[in-house]
Amino acid sequence: MQLYNLKHPSQKVSFAEAVKLGLGQDRGLFFPTEVPVVEDMAALLTLPFVKRSQEIVHLWLRDEMDRADSDALVAEAFNFDLPLNKVDDSRWCLELFHGPTLAFKDFGARFMAQCVNHLAGDEPLTILTATSGDTGAAVADAFYGLDKVQVVVLYPEGKISLLQEKMFTTLGKNIHTLAIAGDFDACQDLVKQAFEDADIRHGLRLNSANSINISRLLAQVCYYFEAVAQFQVANPGLAPVIAVPSGNFGNLTAGLLARAMGLPVKRFVAATNSNDTVPRFLASGQWQVNPTQATMSNAMDVSDPSNWPRVAALCERMGWGEETLSGVALTEAETQDAMRQLLVQGYQSEPHGAIAGAALKQTLTGDEKGLFLGTAHPAKFKDVVDRELQVELPLPPALAAVAGKPILSVRLQADFDLLKEFLFAKLG
Ligand SMILES: *Cc1c(COP(=O)(O)O)cnc(C)c1O
Repeated sequence: MQLYNLKHPSQKVSFAEAVKLGLGQDRGLFFPTEVPVVEDMAALLTLPFVKRSQEIVHLWLRDEMDRADSDALVAEAFNFDLPLNKVDDSRWCLELFHGPTLAFKDFGARFMAQCVNHLAGDEPLTILTATSGDTGAAVADAFYGLDKVQVVVLYPEGKISLLQEKMFTTLGKNIHTLAIAGDFDACQDLVKQAFEDADIRHGLRLNSANSINISRLLAQVCYYFEAVAQFQVANPGLAPVIAVPSGNFGNLTAGLLARAMGLPVKRFVAATNSNDTVPRFLASGQWQVNPTQATMSNAMDVSDPSNWPRVAALCERMGWGEETLSGVALTEAETQDAMRQLLVQGYQSEPHGAIAGAALKQTLTGDEKGLFLGTAHPAKFKDVVDRELQVELPLPPALAAVAGKPILSVRLQADFDLLKEFLFAKLG
């Protein structure tokens, strides 16, 4: 698999290099120079999830990784279910939250951890990542206990739920967490600066683990095939509309890559909360970033999504326009309403999935049917779900286990020099 730097197209790297580097020169994102096309889609869709995912990953990596190795990475990473649930006559939800940390980020994080581990060789390295909620938990869980990898997670203090925070700040061992006085964009900016700093980058052998790492996208491509396979059991021959709850737009990038491989998806809907840079851009052609707003769907509180250049590059390459990708943004009141309406259909959802469910409903016309991605378990957003839906959700075992443990984070100002000092004191 060859990738190029979207900012400096002459910088070309292999998958292994892209996984290790995270970002290219000048913070440019790596993107595949070519997308492999599936020859026999019908046959591929009949395979069970893990087997099919092994085929898909092999299509991407066949020029640089042995089949046995890539098969093993996939089998190790994808060890939980992803059911497609019917919500009403035209909508289904692909539940991606049955992994160890109850969010879809387990797919990308577990596969990335396997790849990093496989590619690292014998030298220790550092994973540095920013999270607006669920990445931190997924990454920490996926790497926890690996002795060659130190993990540093930055998150915006006070802007994620207590349970979310407990899921990744109570682990210890090789997992170091920093509560930053600032919003997610400030955390993301610190991470980007660290990658630009030669001392840190080389001294600590930095590796990025947020949604910009290409290995995560590869993992996420796989579940779109599962979505369509299950959807077509109920709707033979029909290409679904897919609504994706979006923050940093890694999830949507993966969906578009799956479509470029030939997956029958009629079109995509990018669903956001009031951090609506992309829906506004798709409607007006103007890219204008407003200050980030805190919402109930806090994992999507991103106003300057880092994966957008990949979406733009792929749409341009494929000649895709508004018939393939449109956007819908929901306010807080509309999000509450979306959750209640889904409950009326007998489907309990948390704010992120609910936003996509409502966005899908808004855009379906005529005979169209579709699915939305359920990105988090309702219990992961228990405070909001209990309050909005007047329920009392039980804590699933993964959350109950961490609820009583102390938070081990270090608090830090959003200041790059302080971050650098911390990193070298702790890991240098
Ligand atoms: C991260 C996250 C999203 C947004 O996904 P992106 O790939 O960043 O667009 C949506 N929902 C939940 C629950 C998340 O954790």
